[in-house]
Amino acid sequence: MGTMALAIHGGCGVMSPGSQPEAEWAEARAALAEALGAGWRVLSAGGRALDAVEAAVVVLEDSPHFNAGHGAALNADGEHELDASIMDGAGRLAGAVIGVRRARNPVRAARAVLDGGEAVILAGPAADAYAGARGAALVDPSYFTTERRRDNLLSMKARGQAGTGAAASEAEKHGTVGAVALDRDGHLAAATSTGGYTNKPAGRVGDSPIPGAGTYAEDGVCAVSGTGQGEAFIRHALAHDVAARMRYRGDALDAATAGVIADLTPRGTGAGLIALDAAGRVAMPFNTGGMFRGWATPDGDGFVATHGQVFALGRLGA
Ligand code: ASP
Repeated sequence: MGTMALAIHGGCGVMSPGSQPEAEWAEARAALAEALGAGWRVLSAGGRALDAVEAAVVVLEDSPHFNAGHGAALNADGEHELDASIMDGAGRLAGAVIGVRRARNPVRAARAVLDGGEAVILAGPAADAYAGARGAALVDPSYFTTERRRDNLLSMKARGQAGTGAAASEAEKHGTVGAVALDRDGHLAAATSTGGYTNKPAGRVGDSPIPGAGTYAEDGVCAVSGTGQGEAFIRHALAHDVAARMRYRGDALDAATAGVIADLTPRGTGAGLIALDAAGRVAMPFNTGGMFRGWATPDGDGFVATHGQVFALGRLGA
């Protein structure tokens, strides 16, 4: 039996600990623990890494604490345009959706595209319809909206008018969810899902649905899911850059992931990622104040964190 590994994230950002009550941090940590458990159950039952990352991301999309699915950010028109992708390191297969508004779980819509095998990326209403026709649950767009995201949009617009938009906290602007997994058969997979950022222009596409930018998986090398300013991830082909550093230059996972984040830091680009290598080693670098994250050791011990402090969950249930 090969080594299994799993890591998840719920977005990076400035996230000062005092920016929300402790009860909300605890709820977000509980959602991370639930997502970790959902992914681990798939892996420990002998399931595929691809199914594990989908299962973990679905839990995070369903939680209002993260900017994906229910609780996703609103664009400048006050609407949701959700992006997601999923990639199977076995055969480098990928599926992604851009700007969906009705698929309850955008990662499931991305999976439908991957499984359909006719396209890598589908966009807009056609992506919703494609997923719906393949059994994905469709909802009214109001399902995704929470009071917090309405408030975030109002405050971002107010800052924009006052010319202080740049001072908005990352938590108001960003937050994305993702998972990476290694299964017993040695296959790697990655998935990422996001609402983008609050007050983004209508039609804006981030890195999360772009294989090689916000998401990448390649058996024998690595699986990566990113969070942060998507435009920089796209321009740097960031997730693929991790794999390239490992494959062509022989970098270890730690060096490759630290290197791609370091490249973005001098320009003030907030960024983080989670990654696994083929041996199940985990790296989770970020250059912001915090990153919602969780991981499991090969024995199935779970951990979650938002800032420096790590919370041990004990052995994850099978
Ligand atoms: N990377 C996401 C995007 O640009 C946002 C984030 O992770 O905060 O759409």
